Amino acid sequence: MVDNTSNNTSNFIRNIIVDDLEAGRVDKVITRFPPEPNGYLHIGHAKSICLNFELAREFKGLVNLRFDDTNPLKEDTEYVEAIKEDVKWLGYDWDGLFFASDYFEEMYNRAVLLINKGKAYVDDLTSDQIRETRGTLTEPGKNSPFRDRSVEENLDLFERMRKGEFGNGEKVLRAKIDMASPNINLRDPIIFRIAHATHHNTGDQWCIYPMYAFAHPIEDAIESITHSICTLEFEDQRPLYDWVVQETEMEATPHQYEFARLNITNTVMSKRKLKLLVDEGVVDGWDDPRMPTISGLRRRGFTAESIRNFCREIGVTKSNGTIDSKYLDHFIREDLKLKAPRTMGVLKPLKVVITNYPEGQVEWLDAEINSENPEMGMRQIPFSREIYIEQDDFMENPPSKYFRLFPGNEVRLKHAYFIKCNEVVKDENGNVIEIHCTYDPETKSGSGFTGRKVKGTIHWVEATHAVPAEFRLYEPLILDEEEESDSSFLERINPDSLIAEQGFVEPNMKDVTGQDKFQFFRHGYFNVDPKHTKEDHIVFNLVVSMKSSFVLPKA
Ligand code: ATP
Ligand code: MG
Repeated sequence: MVDNTSNNTSNFIRNIIVDDLEAGRVDKVITRFPPEPNGYLHIGHAKSICLNFELAREFKGLVNLRFDDTNPLKEDTEYVEAIKEDVKWLGYDWDGLFFASDYFEEMYNRAVLLINKGKAYVDDLTSDQIRETRGTLTEPGKNSPFRDRSVEENLDLFERMRKGEFGNGEKVLRAKIDMASPNINLRDPIIFRIAHATHHNTGDQWCIYPMYAFAHPIEDAIESITHSICTLEFEDQRPLYDWVVQETEMEATPHQYEFARLNITNTVMSKRKLKLLVDEGVVDGWDDPRMPTISGLRRRGFTAESIRNFCREIGVTKSNGTIDSKYLDHFIREDLKLKAPRTMGVLKPLKVVITNYPEGQVEWLDAEINSENPEMGMRQIPFSREIYIEQDDFMENPPSKYFRLFPGNEVRLKHAYFIKCNEVVKDENGNVIEIHCTYDPETKSGSGFTGRKVKGTIHWVEATHAVPAEFRLYEPLILDEEEESDSSFLERINPDSLIAEQGFVEPNMKDVTGQDKFQFFRHGYFNVDPKHTKEDHIVFNLVVSMKSSFVLPKA
């Protein structure tokens, strides 16, 4: 079903909640965000977080952060802590903080209840055998030879599974539903398995663990969740979800609703794959600025507000699609436009000597901190005989329509004077190492000079006061936008996803600290990298360049 009604303020899940409240089916809305602590959160999770937290907030309900920690082999407290930090940073506060592992005893008891009702049995088949006898979409499955064990035998075996008498995989507990069900999820799904592993929360207390499909509905019911929101892949599991809630005789009756997961071009969006990038050393940790993780986006320079606005605008639908990554860029530009100080930085410096400017003289020019937001005030920038400009802003033999600096041409230096190029100095190999210009004192910025016009304005940094800085420029980590295929994404790593340039910034920038954000004139928005910036070495991460070829879809 395609949902065309969703827009910024409304979505189909919200409509369901409104109906439930109006009809009196629900008193108080309770939602939850249930991550498995097996990795760091990514932008896809942000969509789910925004949805769950904002629905609870809007309807004056409650929202839980619940760690779905039923697989001790993959989970870790490092991830628990990182997830809490990221949810808080996004601007959300949970009402209850829970762990699925808090409910293991209850889940065990509910499984015993199923056994007593003849609705669960211990199976000795291997996981391969279980898969082979499950049938297909067109053929029914086959009953296990252990399916008709007596209640007493099942109770005894299940208790012994718990006591650790059997090895991994030797036995499982299965729900006894219907091996011929057209819904394969209902063909006696496994609900408990043996795993002799230390759990980050419960230690060695358990060696049997509930499966997600059994655990999740019980967790939701224990917490009286009213609207259990998950992604579309779980649609076929909904009948099992309802079966578990009913047959385990839970007091509350939560309902599951599915929405389309977020996919973004040139982006892998799965903790498992992102972990591979970290483990293989492709990136500098989970918070590498190229990662689509919340921590990576934060370090890159995205603000929580820009991510929230993005999630709000993409809406909540039932049709899977892929969002252009440039769409996210739009929201950070919008957010930083009036907030970020504007400044000048030269990424690839070329020395310019202004031959008619007095040696040893420095003058301080006034410049607005943000020309679109005068309230931010003024800054002062030095000007003298030697400055740096961008290598790209000079060409010895320019094509037509090149309006920047070339021999004989005049340009404006932003916030300063017109300069004209007179001489090009080269090394013995013919490389340009410095250019000589003259300036016109009449043309000072703000002086009202109208004598003549120039076609180009370029940025610059005065050489003797310049502060060295590293600029890290990013391109997508994953090449091309083809359908994600499991095996090949590691082969599609973009070798040029990070390019570092050593340049200069204005002297008023020398005391910047991690996460400070700036707009560098003509380049784009940059964030001070909190991990690699040291007192004598500033590292800027490119958040997003100035211009976008992307046209916003019509609302
Ligand atoms: P991953 O494969 O990245 O680990 P997951 O769905 O297994 O994703 P969970 O930790 O189980 O990760 O997810 C927590 C919640 O976030 C779930 O409710 C899930 O539906 C939601 N979620 C995960 N990925 C996305 C996505 N790309 N778009 C929207 N919601 C998502
Ligand atoms: Mg998962």
